[in-house]
Amino acid sequence: MNDVKIGWIGTGVMGEAMCSRLIDAGYKCCVSNRTKSKADSLVAKGATFYKTPFRVAKECDIVFTMVGFPKDVEQVYFSDTGLLEGSKPGQIFCDMTTTKPSIATRIYSSSKTYEVEFVDAPVSGGDIGAKNGKLSIMAGGDKAIYDKLKPLFDIMGNPIYEGYSGSGQHTKMANQIAIAGIMGGVCESLLYATKMGLNLSVMLETIRGGAAACWSLDNLAPRIIKEDFEPGFYVDHFVKDMKIALEEAEKVNLNLPTLKLVESLYEEAQKQGYGKNGTQALFLALVNMNNIKIYEE
Ligand code: NAP
Repeated sequence: MNDVKIGWIGTGVMGEAMCSRLIDAGYKCCVSNRTKSKADSLVAKGATFYKTPFRVAKECDIVFTMVGFPKDVEQVYFSDTGLLEGSKPGQIFCDMTTTKPSIATRIYSSSKTYEVEFVDAPVSGGDIGAKNGKLSIMAGGDKAIYDKLKPLFDIMGNPIYEGYSGSGQHTKMANQIAIAGIMGGVCESLLYATKMGLNLSVMLETIRGGAAACWSLDNLAPRIIKEDFEPGFYVDHFVKDMKIALEEAEKVNLNLPTLKLVESLYEEAQKQGYGKNGTQALFLALVNMNNIKIYEE
């Protein structure tokens, strides 16, 4: 049993699965989440629940955060009941949420004031990757601190050191820009095949071995075929990511027309009520936009 005490803030779809792997690897964990019941499965495995990030910081050597939105990250780090107020010199904090690169650099510079360390390390690979320990982990910050975290990252997936503080978040934005185009393509491909009366499973089996092969075709297209639109990765979170990427691109006068288009399609999906569905629900929004009836009433 490793005697490093780990803290984990945010035990939703991703955080619960990632922290669970650390507990299974023998680490003592303290957890906190806004809705306590979402940490029940971790407490049942031996984790200790604390009401605030402040208390978790008091108890632990290394604290990971995996919350939802940029404002949640700010609250977890900067509020009176937050991590920095509860910190002690030498402690390591690591934010794995997808958030604004500017928030990562703000925490990094505050961490110097509090004499703690900070690494930004967002992930890709979805709920399945989190459960299986197959996440792509994109880390930014000081290399020496990354090296200390690497054995823990290895339990969650495949870490890669990207460089300066905030570069983990910028890498994640590059990832989301790629996924935006892919999701548009995957959903429209299935819609086209539906309209043409193809057997969707046969079509999918055929194209996923060719040049269109990708994670989304392998993992999300089968969910669409099974009419499973549960998250996974929330539409609301994806819109958050695409807005961050557009904002960052605008700062450097970069025009990303595909990203803009796909972001507007996902905003339409939100308007249709699919914000809390998985990103594969873009398919449903496109079905509605085309006035097609494909499901039995
Ligand atoms: P989620 O299920 O909503 O989990 C986020 C958790 O953070 C929720 O349980 C939430 O509490 C908790 N939280 C938020 N603010 C908090 C605060 N101030 N104090 C304590 N807990 C707080 O979302 P998720 O799917 O795990 O995603 C987490 C992050 O990873 C997001 O930034 C997302 O974009 C990113 N991501 C997700 C995926 C994916 O496939 N799901 C993949 C890669 C990256 P409540 O339960 O009260 O809401």
